Amino acid sequence: MSTSTGTVTGNYRNGTQRSSLRTQSSASTSGGQKSTVKSKSVLRKSSPGALGGGSSAASKAGSGGDSGVPGRVRVAVRLRPRNGEELIADADFADCVELQPEVKRLKLRKNNWDTDTFEFDEVFTEYASQKRVYEVVAKPVVEGVLDGYNGTIMAYGQTGTGKTYTLGQLGEEDVADRGIMVRAMEDILAEVSLETDSISVSYLQLYMETVQDLLDPANDNIAIVEDPKSGDVSLPGATLVEIRDQQSFLELLQLGEAHRFAANTKLNTESSRSHAILMVNVRRSLKTKDGLSSESSGNSHMTKSLKPPVVRKGKLVVVDLAGSERINKSGSEGHTLEEAKSINLSLSALGKCINALAENSSHVPFRDSKLTRLLRDSFGGTARTSLVITIGPSPRHRGETTSTIMFGQRAMKVENMVKLKEEFDYKSLSKRLEVQLDNLIEENERQQKAFVDEIERITAEAHNQISEAEKRYANALEEEKLRYQNDYVESIKKLEENWSKNHKKLAADRLALGEKNGMDITSNGNRSITTTLEEVSELKKLLQKESQSKMAAEEEVSRLKLQLTEYMKVEVSANSEIMRLHKMLENETQQKEKLEGEIATLHTQLLQLSLTADETRRNLEKHGSEKTSGGLDSFMSQLRLPQIQDPGNVEKPPVAKLFEQVGLHKILSLLEADDADVRIHAVKVVANLAAEEANQQQIVEAGGLTSLLMLLRSTEDETIHRVAAGAIANLAMNETNQELIMDQGGIGLLSSTAANAHDPQTLRMVAGAIANLCGNDKLQTKLRSEGGIAALLGMVRCGHPDVLAQVARGIANFAKCESRASTQGTKRGKSLLIEDGALSWVVQNAKTEIAAIRRHIELALCHLAQHEGNAKEMVKEGAIWELVRISRDCSREDIRSLAHRTLTSSPTFLTELRRLRVDIR
Ligand code: ADP
Ligand code: MG
Repeated sequence: MSTSTGTVTGNYRNGTQRSSLRTQSSASTSGGQKSTVKSKSVLRKSSPGALGGGSSAASKAGSGGDSGVPGRVRVAVRLRPRNGEELIADADFADCVELQPEVKRLKLRKNNWDTDTFEFDEVFTEYASQKRVYEVVAKPVVEGVLDGYNGTIMAYGQTGTGKTYTLGQLGEEDVADRGIMVRAMEDILAEVSLETDSISVSYLQLYMETVQDLLDPANDNIAIVEDPKSGDVSLPGATLVEIRDQQSFLELLQLGEAHRFAANTKLNTESSRSHAILMVNVRRSLKTKDGLSSESSGNSHMTKSLKPPVVRKGKLVVVDLAGSERINKSGSEGHTLEEAKSINLSLSALGKCINALAENSSHVPFRDSKLTRLLRDSFGGTARTSLVITIGPSPRHRGETTSTIMFGQRAMKVENMVKLKEEFDYKSLSKRLEVQLDNLIEENERQQKAFVDEIERITAEAHNQISEAEKRYANALEEEKLRYQNDYVESIKKLEENWSKNHKKLAADRLALGEKNGMDITSNGNRSITTTLEEVSELKKLLQKESQSKMAAEEEVSRLKLQLTEYMKVEVSANSEIMRLHKMLENETQQKEKLEGEIATLHTQLLQLSLTADETRRNLEKHGSEKTSGGLDSFMSQLRLPQIQDPGNVEKPPVAKLFEQVGLHKILSLLEADDADVRIHAVKVVANLAAEEANQQQIVEAGGLTSLLMLLRSTEDETIHRVAAGAIANLAMNETNQELIMDQGGIGLLSSTAANAHDPQTLRMVAGAIANLCGNDKLQTKLRSEGGIAALLGMVRCGHPDVLAQVARGIANFAKCESRASTQGTKRGKSLLIEDGALSWVVQNAKTEIAAIRRHIELALCHLAQHEGNAKEMVKEGAIWELVRISRDCSREDIRSLAHRTLTSSPTFLTELRRLRVDIR
């Protein structure tokens, strides 16, 4: 043994000192296999994280500075697609998890409105391919094994969630289905050279803390041996098969699976209760010309003395764990307590080791179970470890899924276990929506610009063509005309010349005839006839020529006419082209409008999200850990304290910007959208906007109030009712709006909404709205005759203090208006409240412990008592005693003295008090 192999250098991992350079004996791979390696030094290198870890072997042989990066278990979660049964049974239910692979997060639905969010190293949706799962989860581990590290790949999860599919699928029917074991062997075979390297495989089952050989069923109790010096784990009793090609490996897996099935049948158990373990040992000789490691050639001056060939050994362990549902079950489903205990033992020991590794604990309890003892040299530390946790989508198995996720979370680093707050998800979702939106907007803009440009270009071209054709035609016409005019003038001129020539000649001839009397008349006469004949024939010729050119002119004209019709045709076709383009433009515009509609919808959703996020943030900031009951609270707080509003210096640029972008009209139009989700988003946005006094007038002017009232009538969705009623309550703070609400049948709508509501928050909003209307002097009679008071009193059935407080506020408001009217002399007779039976409720609740209700009731009693017309009834119903109590005990000075004043100024009360000898001073 050379000196270098004997050197042991300190290597700290998780606080434990370990040898980084150590001696490895061939005994670790015995069991009938003939080993040619005697004693080799193997450099154990630090391993970067497996899943998604960078390139291996950061420190090369001989570099010395092996820092021993602790290998955190890398955890991926994989969701199985719904199976046939779930598609039917769970059709009406959402999956119990929602995956966000782009941010590597998993949201676990706790109930309809609450989720927990967890982060993993990788999140695989039901669409993830086997290839990608292999590449992300297993490939880095396999590469490590080829580089001489040990590595482990495990699958953990409830039975039926895809552990075996992920790890052991053979993919004989469809190559795309091949699982991690098959792909890992393919990669290993491709990388090694079978002349110098070797691959050997064992396949085992661990059941009830007993290791069984799946390649030789007779071998059913195999011992685990640990080399105390090197820490290497081996199973000398296990069959070790040398693998030289993929086919023999596939056959081996099939054989193992058949034996597993047979063994389990014999033991009357099933595969979900045992762990299946595949061990692949890879031994590679790294040789250069003179036996040097090829990888160490860069440091050849240091390694030249290393004569013997360097052998690198890596061990890959793939573990298909028992179904995780076993961990907490015992005694049920026909398996023994003993069995439950031992399955528990291995899985919980594994959990403990994972925890210890994650927490960098100095002690990792590998010794606690067979499984962890087997994994000791291949798990954590310098080995690379990947864990796939498999889950199913069914909400029926939420419990199992939750515990699987928690197991996976514990396997992650401790800081990753912190649950993420919902608000972060708003951010990422909002960001995603924003990006999507921006892309859509950009694309739309580009298309629109290109289209407008194209239309302009085509129109201009058509115009040019037409005007050019017209010009050409006019020029040609003009030229022809000129030419014919010239010809004509010319011919006339010629004719005239000829004629005058002949005329002169004739005159001269006659003259000559008269002067010479003796001349021969006959000859003279003959000459004259000859000339005339000549002239006639010349004239004839001229005439002929003239008629020829006339014909030519006529031809030309008809040619031009033809040309003109031709041009006209061109024009007609150009016009139809323009029409076509116009139509296209119209279509495009429609398309654009549709897109804009979609954008507005998206915007509205985004707006709603931003508002909710704002709200959440504000709540978190304001109340710290104090419990708040969500967005609707803000309506009510604003309802009670409108003066809080200060839109001037509230900084919320993204919301304001979005609002501007979408426009109020668009948002209001979405209240009537076909899609219920869009309607809900829109009504929430409107409600949030209505909570700001600054927006209220605008909303009402744009018809928002009418739309909100219509929603109460047209939909049966209670969420919409609740939110719309909240918005109406906010708008009902203003006198003009109150009249509008009444005019549009608001009382009837609010009453029927209240009658059908189940959620106290809905009732609270409706009662708040009616309470606001009760404070309007002008609306008293109408409000009562349309059933407003009856509706208020009807809502006390729910008993929720928030609702009762609003009812009491309404009654106090109403009573106050009545007492004002009676002071002014416009009201006579009993209070409408008393007529509708409000007094007994008021008296019954006058002593309530809840301050918000009591204050309103006390005020209501004082206001009612101010009208002498009510006094008799108040005596009869016992309200007088409440007034006496208020005048004595009320904590508020002003109410106390008001009660006192009313008692002493009413003759009826005074008589009654005197009769019963009650002194109220
Ligand atoms: P486990 O080993 O966890 O008990 P299995 O791997 O046997 O689960 O999977 C149960 C069933 O679900 C099998 O029929 C398997 O083919 C199917 N299955 C599991 N995961 C997937 C997946 N990702 N895609 C398609 N089918 C899957
Ligand atoms: Mg299985």
